[in-house]
Amino acid sequence: MSSSNIRNHLSLLMLFILIIVTGCHDKVDVGHKSDKKLNVVATIGMITDIVKNVGGDRIDITGIIGEGVDPHLYKPTARDTKILKEADIIFYNGLHLEVRITGSVFKKMDDITKAIAVTDGIDRSQLRKTSEFIGGYDPHVWHDVSLWMKATENIRDTLIKRDPQNAEYYRSNAKYYLTQLTSLHYEMQRLSAQIPIKRRVLVTTHDAFGYLGKAYGFEVRGLLGINTEDEVGIADVRELAEYIIENRIPTMFLDTSSPPRGIFSVQAAVKARGFNVNIAGGLFSDAMGTPGTPEGTYIGMMRHNMKTIVNMLQTELAYRE
Ligand SMILES: [Zn+2]
Repeated sequence: MSSSNIRNHLSLLMLFILIIVTGCHDKVDVGHKSDKKLNVVATIGMITDIVKNVGGDRIDITGIIGEGVDPHLYKPTARDTKILKEADIIFYNGLHLEVRITGSVFKKMDDITKAIAVTDGIDRSQLRKTSEFIGGYDPHVWHDVSLWMKATENIRDTLIKRDPQNAEYYRSNAKYYLTQLTSLHYEMQRLSAQIPIKRRVLVTTHDAFGYLGKAYGFEVRGLLGINTEDEVGIADVRELAEYIIENRIPTMFLDTSSPPRGIFSVQAAVKARGFNVNIAGGLFSDAMGTPGTPEGTYIGMMRHNMKTIVNMLQTELAYRE
């Protein structure tokens, strides 16, 4: 072997040693961060989104119920059951929203203490009572941003309790996200204030917006009850049509989680009496929009809903009055 060849071999050897040493050094840092992450599962998208914002890259998160899917009727698949059983923490809404998950999978789980209802930390006096729903409370809490902030705090505290090593990280993420939610709450108040109080009436397919009504001053009427399992009857259609005519309601709103058929029947019933009511589309009631779009986040979904309601009512009222 020539001396230049030996030199080349020695250079290669040095390079190898360098790679190994650098590699080891990197591994030490990465190793510190890659302690087993919490395996977190959430039911509805609005919860998955909070958990992502608070848990960041220190957790693994899987959302079960996707875009446009009705959580009242959602039946867990075999894959969901496996995911739920393997989770370290499960965040769900509670108040009997995801009845087909809580009623089946949860009952067969060894450790039920890992399932946390995010609405548990909310004072019961702030919940809407209803005789229409099992348990006596309306579960659509996320439509009041100030209440969903309490759900965020509950998620933050649970992550800190289960993973105290990353407490500061979760605390700081939650603080940042809660600041954004506070701004959103004020924005929703400012937007709704653009409509005179007596004209703030929201007629929708599924009666999911009671908390939005309570928080931002709207009277809310839904064709379908609070639970989408209820059937729409002829009497419901007639009664809502009557209300629309009496109160000169200009627009009804469809939502992305309920079938639109009943609302078209109401429109026809109103027309048969010689009046006209428009149908506007696309409020997000029980699920968020397409992932990757603004409406695919909780903040974007809420902003979209309020802007759609206010824009439509403003346009129609300006035209009619
Ligand atoms: Zn609902």
